Amino acid sequence: MTTDTRNVDQAEIDKFDQLASRWWDPKSEFRPLHEINPLRLGWINKLAPLPGKKVIDIGCGGGILSESMAVLGADVTGIDMAPTPLQVARLHLKESGLQVDYQQITAERMADKYAGEFDIVTCMEMLEHVPDPASVLKACAQLVKPGGMVFLSTINRNPKSFIMAILGAEYVLKLLPKGTHEYAKFIRPSELANWCRSAGLETGDMTGMHYNPLTRRYTLNPNVDVNYLLSCRG
Ligand code: SAH
Repeated sequence: MTTDTRNVDQAEIDKFDQLASRWWDPKSEFRPLHEINPLRLGWINKLAPLPGKKVIDIGCGGGILSESMAVLGADVTGIDMAPTPLQVARLHLKESGLQVDYQQITAERMADKYAGEFDIVTCMEMLEHVPDPASVLKACAQLVKPGGMVFLSTINRNPKSFIMAILGAEYVLKLLPKGTHEYAKFIRPSELANWCRSAGLETGDMTGMHYNPLTRRYTLNPNVDVNYLLSCRG
């Protein structure tokens, strides 16, 4: 349902709509998502093996993570509020021959309808684009089955993350368009963990994703200063 705008920043949605046609081009603005995907997929699959699992991917965009989870045998629903990335995601299924159920709906509305239905909830690189991330985390906690897993990723908020994720990525290396990220919306690990706990989730593994500008490669790393992942149990 597209009329639920409780927790949607239309300017953010417009940004992703405008870039959507290049979503699956690994050399485009979405290169970082393509590069981090094998790392986060491996991390998820290690903590909660994906084959046969019912998964919801919140803020799925053009479907890079959603499709890769489907490849591993998960039954994936992908939701997003930007219509054009969803169209791109659906078109890409025709190329890949995979099945993912893509829907334009908010996490909160989905949680009203399908509470407790998913073994795994993923919400990656999305929380820093919404007005009220705590509300999305509440929805994640509602959507996951008791004992199921929630996997999150976002960007830390500190001087180093400002330099790396905004100045470095948007202005110097030009990996991302200027204005992709807003510093004030970055989320400290302590804030994320507190919101998760308030939503009734038990926090688990936290790991950093480190970008080396010289090799242009991402690696998983204990350092959570910039990009990081958090796993939770429902
Ligand atoms: N999770 C994907 C895409 C990240 S880009 C990946 O990591 O590969 C961020 C996505 O969040 C965009 O597709 C954007 O449209 C979506 N988004 C932003 N605000 C949203 C909201 N309130 N509800 C659902 N999706 C949202």
